[in-house]
Formats: sequence, structure tokens, C-alpha cells
Amino acid sequence: GNLCRCTGYRPIIDAARRMGELPKVEFDREAVKQALREIDHDAPLAVSHAGQTFHAPRTLQQLAQLRAALPQARILAGSTDVGLWVTKQMRELGDIIYIGRVEELRTISVHGEMLEIGAGVSLEEAYAEAARHYPEELSELWQRFASLPVRHAGTLGGNVANGSPIGDSMPWLIALGAQILLYSVRGQRVMALEDFYLAYQKSALQADEVVQAVRIPLPQKDVRFRVYKLSKRFDQDISAVCAAFALRMEGDTIREARIAFGGMAATPKRAAQAEALLQGGAWSESQVRAAMAALAQDYAPLSDMRASASYRLRSAQNLLYRYWLETRTEAPLARQDVRAFAVNAA
Ligand SMILES: Cc1cc2nc3c(=O)[nH]c(=O)nc-3n(C[C@H](O)[C@H](O)[C@H](O)COP(=O)(O)OP(=O)(O)OC[C@H]3O[C@@H](n4cnc5c(N)ncnc54)[C@H](O)[C@@H]3O)c2cc1C
Repeated sequence: GNLCRCTGYRPIIDAARRMGELPKVEFDREAVKQALREIDHDAPLAVSHAGQTFHAPRTLQQLAQLRAALPQARILAGSTDVGLWVTKQMRELGDIIYIGRVEELRTISVHGEMLEIGAGVSLEEAYAEAARHYPEELSELWQRFASLPVRHAGTLGGNVANGSPIGDSMPWLIALGAQILLYSVRGQRVMALEDFYLAYQKSALQADEVVQAVRIPLPQKDVRFRVYKLSKRFDQDISAVCAAFALRMEGDTIREARIAFGGMAATPKRAAQAEALLQGGAWSESQVRAAMAALAQDYAPLSDMRASASYRLRSAQNLLYRYWLETRTEAPLARQDVRAFAVNAA
């Protein structure tokens, strides 16, 4: 589980080599057992060491109270993002509020037309449930999200709260019209997920709030939905571009267009110009070509080690074309046909 693209072998070898330099620590096994027994109970946990405290509340109310009392503390879920700040950036985290023991955050339920996934639900469980409703659309992304151990540790709430511009869940959640539920001692707030992201690494989360859950619209017959992840490897790799499209159709007319990309801007972001161009029109080749051109107005992506700006824009446009090939009313192509098409065209 330690071997991943971020850790690599080097730090593990270095650590093993230096292990012998550390003084031997003698400890009393019985005292340790006793201490472990003492913390294995239902009360909220608080363990202090070197001036920092690890809090593990048991209820949402306790969590909200702690959050209000310690606004500077770091909320911790699966630690698959936060852990790297420590191992890679050597950052001190200060006080920690761990949400993994709050039962109310570990629930999955259906409310009307929405699937609600608690912020403490693992990525693996969350994607399994979402892919049960959207098997054709989400199964591939699920399999390609990180790796099994990371998906079991990490949470959907952490992915959304972290709000990385290259995170994989935001594009499809935004395209479907998902909502985020925020909780604090002041009560609950619900907002469209797209409104949660204000700027690079800046969200609408207030200092006393936590992410409580994400609400995902269930499939609707008139909505054609797809998500595509482009990365250098099949799995265990962050996206260069992640695209999600959801068109609400009435016959062959587009009633509502929702397009969201990751990897194209400082936040996960909708393509306002391309959407406006599509809305009310027919789902035709000329329309999709015009919308592809409009994506150049919607986004000015960066060049970085994952991809160049021009690659990002070009592939974003081509993914929109691929979506059209798969969802056009006449003779839509199956996924494998579109893959073959891409290979032939190249
Ligand atoms: C090897 C590896 C591969 C990865 N692959 C992918 C990938 O393919 N796609 C992808 O999108 N990501 C990937 N990631 C990133 C990471 O796994 C995800 O972002 C994950 O969803 C983070 O969830 P977590 O529970 O581990 O969050 P944590 O690391 O615990 O927290 C992340 C951030 O969210 C905040 N936070 C967490 N929960 C809450 C809450 N309830 N309320 C308020 N704030 C909260 C924390 O304070 C922190 O700022 C990968 C990471 C690793 C290590």
C-alpha cells in the first residue's frame, strides 16, 4: 500500500536505512494494552502530543461544536490528500478533527430524486453506489480513480472539500447538478456544487462548517450523461483533463446543457459559452462543432507536467465530439466503436 506514484521506493529505503540510528524505545506492553482499551469506547476522543490534539468526535453535533471552537484545526477524513502534505511537504498540521468516527456522516440514502452520500463514506462505497445508478456512465471512472486501497481510505467528501481543479468527482457531479450539504452549529446549508468553488483552493466553506454530504440527482430518461477521464495511465493517476456532459433533451432539441471540466481552469468549472450555444438548438454535428470552438472562450488552461495548454484545449474539444458520437440521436456509437474511431483517425 505504500508504493504509489507519490511515495516511490526512495523514501522507504532511506527510512529503512536510518531506522537503526534511532534510540531503542522500551515500552510496557500491558500499559499500552490498557491505554488502547481506554480509548476504545463511544465517547469522543482527544489525544494530545507535542502541543497538538487529535480529536475524534462521535456525532455530527460534537463535530460541529468542535469545529466552531477550533476553526483553525484541520478536518481529516481518509487522509489521502492531507497525508501527502505531511510526507511530501513536511507540513505541521496542528490540531486535527477526524470525521471518520461520526456515524451520521457514513450513511447513503435516497431523498426523492436525489442520492445522498455522507461525507465520511469511502470513495469505493460512494462510487459503487453511484455506479449502480449510472453503470454505463460511471463504472470506468470508478475503476480508474486512484487505486483500491486509496479508494477504501479516501472519501467522496474529501475529494469535494479539497476541490482540486484536477479532482475527478467534481466534473460529473456538477454536470449532473449535484448539491453540497454544509453543516455547522448554525444549522445546515445546501448549495449547488458549482457555487462551492470560488477560486483556486478557495471554497465557500465557512470556518465553522464541515461538508456533511453530497446529493446527486438520480438518472432521468431525458438526460444524456457521460464522463471521460484523460490521464497517462489507466489508474492511479490524476487527470490531465476530466470532462462531463449532461444534455437534457426534448426530442432532438437541447433543453438544458451542462458541461463541466476538470484540468481546464483554477477550479472545476462549467463551460458557459459552449452551454449557451447548445441550449435550445438541435444536437447536430454543426452545433457540436460550434460548441467545440466555444470551449476556447470558456477556458484558458495551463501547461504543466501533465499536459500542455494546447493539448488540454484540443482534447477537451475532442471529448465533446466523442460525447456527440456516443449520444447523437441517429446511429450513436458504442464506447468501443468510438475508441476504434479515435485510433483510426490518428
Ligand atoms: C495515490 C493517490 C492517487 C489518487 N488518485 C486520485 C484520482 O485518481 N482522482 C482524484 O480525484 N483524486 C485522487 N487522489 C486524491 C485523493 O485520494 C482524493 O482527493 C480523496 O477523495 C480525498 O479524500 P480524503 O478522505 O482522503 O480527504 P483528506 O485527505 O482527509 O482531506 C482532504 C481535504 O478535504 C478536507 N475535508 C475532508 N473531509 C471534510 C469534511 N467532511 N468537511 C470539510 N472538509 C473536509 C480536509 O480538511 C482536506 O483539506 C489520489 C491520492 C493518492 C494518494
